[in-house]
Amino acid sequence: MRYVILGASAAGINAAQKLRELDQNSDITMISTDESVYSRPMLHYYMSGKRDLNSLSFINKDFFEKHKVNWIKGTTVISLFPDSKEVMLSNNEKQHYDKLLIATGASSFIPNIPNLREACNVYGLRNLNDAIILKEKGKTAKNITVLGSGLVGIDAVIGLMENENITINIIELADRILPLQLDQCASGNCEKKLIDNNIKLFKSQKAEKIELDENNNIKEVHLDSGKILPTDILVVATGIRANTEFLSNTGIKLGKGIDVNSKMETSIPDVYAAGDVTAISGTWPDAVKQAHVAAYNMAGLEKEMDEMTVINNAMNFFGMPCISIGDVNNTDDSCKVKIFKEHDSYKKFIIKDKHICGAIFQGDIAYSGVFKYLIRNQIDISNINKELDEIGYEDFNY
Ligand SMILES: Cc1cc2nc3c(=O)[nH]c(=O)nc-3n(C[C@H](O)[C@H](O)[C@H](O)COP(=O)(O)OP(=O)(O)OC[C@H]3O[C@@H](n4cnc5c(N)ncnc54)[C@H](O)[C@@H]3O)c2cc1C
Repeated sequence: MRYVILGASAAGINAAQKLRELDQNSDITMISTDESVYSRPMLHYYMSGKRDLNSLSFINKDFFEKHKVNWIKGTTVISLFPDSKEVMLSNNEKQHYDKLLIATGASSFIPNIPNLREACNVYGLRNLNDAIILKEKGKTAKNITVLGSGLVGIDAVIGLMENENITINIIELADRILPLQLDQCASGNCEKKLIDNNIKLFKSQKAEKIELDENNNIKEVHLDSGKILPTDILVVATGIRANTEFLSNTGIKLGKGIDVNSKMETSIPDVYAAGDVTAISGTWPDAVKQAHVAAYNMAGLEKEMDEMTVINNAMNFFGMPCISIGDVNNTDDSCKVKIFKEHDSYKKFIIKDKHICGAIFQGDIAYSGVFKYLIRNQIDISNINKELDEIGYEDFNY
């Protein structure tokens, strides 16, 4: 049996590890554009100088040797031939597979704003190379504009703000930062931290026009509010698109990403997909979970994605811990909201019927794990005779 895995990140690495655990003898080959294995959520530590390239890795040095995985790195797959069960690499070499896992992740999405796609000094923050360039450019830039204030936009700000004599602007279409993870109050607490650190926020505004210089570099970003932001570097953090270009003409079923069933099988026999390339969730833990399920099925052991996917984001926002679990912005009339506010802590629970469907913890994050369990497993809380902020692990039988 020959397993081929495309991608060497959260999904690819975890699939390889699981496959080796389940099948000691078969050949496992991994092919990736990436030349090293690194954690994307830690890229900002590299930019701010808190970690070097070696300490971005999330595997041991002997991973490939220990798990007997042949890794073809720095090589992009450009086509898939399902009939002959082969993939074509950028060096025109072909690799045969018996079972294939596509774990090629996603790329930064550059929105269609006039002049933006033509400009030279526009960067995403997705790959190590992006972080290396941003770190270097950040040293001499005076004005950096970040488009989007989701997790990636905020990581970019945190990675760049250590540079001296720098102005950082954030443009956000929504009326608050981290709009998917936090509510108005929790976002407001984070915004205060940004403002205290001299970051300029332009909320409920959008970039309308980009002014380029004679070298096609952005010099100004014009907002729909009329504001003009001088800009040396523009970081685009406005979402991602699944890396599926090499699959055109294969007939594989695609939606926003590769369509998969609960066994992570694609519409092509013996071809599986996991991680961000499926566009199911875009989070690390889900990529790992999907990779494990794919590996079981590739090894001939049936397994399905069983747990309900619950988005769970943890961040340390300038020293203030924040956790967001589930659907924190449910405005359904049938939902009840409970808020507990103290000096430096904010907790919010959204309850639908007899279940909690979302929770935010800020400042004091103790017992947030209990709520992740309650939300993921849709536990009935109607018999709990305590305030929600007093619930502990001891209140439930696991
Ligand atoms: C800045 C940043 C911060 C983040 N913060 C968080 C967070 O706080 N919490 C969280 O849960 N998630 C976070 N994420 C998301 C998380 O990193 C992703 O969900 C996770 O990396 C997905 O893993 P993946 O293996 O599916 O894809 P990726 O990590 O995108 O890896 C794709 C792999 O495929 C390779 N590849 C791509 N195309 C090809 C091709 N054609 N041929 C060969 N190889 C190819 C790439 O080189 C790479 O090795 C963050 C992401 C970023 C960028």
